[in-house]
Amino acid sequence: MTHSQFENELTIQEHTEEGTLDEFHAAYEAAVDDIASDFGESHPLWIDGKTVQTDDTFTVRNPGDTEQVLGEFAAGDEGHVDDAVAAASEAFAEWKETSWEERTAIFREAADIVQERKIEIAALMAYENAKNRTEAIAEVDEAIDFLRYYSDELERTDAYSGALREPTPGQRCVSDLQPYGVFGVVSPFNFPFAILVGMTTGALITGNTAVVKPASTTPLTAHTFFDVLIEAGIPDGVANLVTGGGREVGQPLIEHEDVAGFVFTGSREVGLNIQRTFDEMGKRGPVIAELGGKNPVIVSDTADISKAVSGVKFGAFSFSGQKCSATSRVYVHEDVADEFTERLVEETEELAVGKPERRETVVSPLIDDAALERYDDICERARADGTVRCGGSRLEDADLPTGRYVEPTVVTGLAHDHALATDEHFLPFVTIHPVSGLDEAIDKSNDSEYALCAGLFSEDEGEIDAWFDRIESGMCYVNREQSATTGALVEAQPFGGWKYSGTTGKFAGGPWYLQQFMRQQSRTVVG
Ligand code: GLU
Repeated sequence: MTHSQFENELTIQEHTEEGTLDEFHAAYEAAVDDIASDFGESHPLWIDGKTVQTDDTFTVRNPGDTEQVLGEFAAGDEGHVDDAVAAASEAFAEWKETSWEERTAIFREAADIVQERKIEIAALMAYENAKNRTEAIAEVDEAIDFLRYYSDELERTDAYSGALREPTPGQRCVSDLQPYGVFGVVSPFNFPFAILVGMTTGALITGNTAVVKPASTTPLTAHTFFDVLIEAGIPDGVANLVTGGGREVGQPLIEHEDVAGFVFTGSREVGLNIQRTFDEMGKRGPVIAELGGKNPVIVSDTADISKAVSGVKFGAFSFSGQKCSATSRVYVHEDVADEFTERLVEETEELAVGKPERRETVVSPLIDDAALERYDDICERARADGTVRCGGSRLEDADLPTGRYVEPTVVTGLAHDHALATDEHFLPFVTIHPVSGLDEAIDKSNDSEYALCAGLFSEDEGEIDAWFDRIESGMCYVNREQSATTGALVEAQPFGGWKYSGTTGKFAGGPWYLQQFMRQQSRTVVG
C-alpha cells in the first residue's frame, strides 16, 4: 500500500513545540466568552439549499450548566424526511456526474474553513456536549483530517478507477466505482463534529447525496458543519440537515425506500435495527455502522506500572468515559494488582472534574439526565456486589453550576461475567479484575460480544506478539500511556470494530473506508 503525503492536524502538539501554548489557551478562552452571545437563536432545517421552519421545536441546554439555553431547534417529522430524501434523490443525478476533482475541491475548501474556525468550533463543544478543551481541539483536528484524508484518498486512487488486464487481445477492461444514491447519516453526541464530518464526507465525496440527522443533544455543531459546507460550495440538495427525534426523523429515514445506504455511529441496538430494517426491506445498499465497545486493557507483571495507570486513567475517564473506545475493564496480573489498583485510585482521585472550558478539566459533566440516572444505578449495583474503590457519587460542589458532574469510579471485586463488567455503560466507570497470567487475561478480554479497542501494558516482546496474535479487537494499542484505548489518529490508526462493535470491518480514517460507499462496475470494450 502506498501512502499519501497526508499529515495529521495536531494543534496542541504544534503549539507546544512552537512555545505558543499560552497564546492558544488565551484564544480559546476568548472564544468561549465570544460565542455565548449567539446562544438562544432558533435553527431551522436545511433542505434542498433552503431553510425550513417547523411547527415543533426542541430546546438544547448546556450539560455543564443546565440553566443555560443554547438554542431552539426545528423538530423534523416524517414529512420533512420525505422532502429531504426527495431533494437528495434529485440532486444525485448531477452530483454523481461531477468529477472527483470537483468534489474533493469542495471538501478541501471545507477543511480550510474549519481550520480557520477551529478554536471557535472547539469552544462551541464546551457548551454543547461539555467536551474539555484539549479533547475538543483534538476533535476539530480529526474533522479536518477526515476532510483532507478522504480527499487525498480519492486523488491517490483516481477515485478507485483504473484499467484492468486485457484478458484477450482487443478487449479493454476498466474497473470503476460508483455511488449508490441517497445515504442516511445519523451521528452521535460524543463526537458531534468529527464523526458527523467524517461520515457525511464519506457519503458525499464518493458521489452520494445525504440526509443527515445529528444526535438531538448536539444539533448546533451539525449546523456549524452545514454552514461550512454551504460556504465551501456544496450544491443544493446534496447535503440536507433534518434535526429532531429518533422516532420522528431517524426511523422514517431508515425505512425510506429511496434511502439506498446508511452510515451510523452509536448504540448497538440502533445499529442492528438499521441493518435489520435494510434486510427486511430487501435493500441492497450498505449499512456502515460503528457501534459500542467494552474495551479491555491487560496489565502484565512486566508492565511499567506508571504507564499503565496513566493509560487506564485517561482511557477510562477522559470525556467521562462517554466514548465507544473508553477503557472499561482491566485484567491485571495478580502479582501487581494491588500496586496498580492503589496507584490508579490515587491518581483518579486527583483527576480534575469540572467545567469543560477550564484548562485542567479532564472529566466533564454527563450529557443528559438519563446518563446521570444510569450512573447512579451502576454505582449502587457496584456497591452491592463489589467494592467501589473511588468515586461512585455525584459531585455536589457549591462552585459548580447546575450540571451533571460525577466522580470517576474504580470498582474491584466483581466477577468477570458480572453485568457491570460486560455491558457498555458510556460512563466514567472501570472494573479491575486480577488474573493469573496473559492467557487468562486474553481469554477474558475476548469473552465479550464487543471487539472495538483493546490495550496491553507489557515490556515483554513475546507477550506483545502473543497478544496481537490472539486478541479479538478492531484496534489494538500497546503501552499507550496517553490513553490505553481512546484517541485514534486518522490514517495512522483507522477506527472501527469487530463483532457487535461494527458492521463492515473497514474502518473510518483508513484506506478502505470510502470504497464502502461505492459499488463496482466492470467495463469491457471489445475491438
Ligand atoms: N475515535 C474515537 C477514539 O478513538 C472514539 C469514537 C467513538 O467513541 O465513537 O477515541
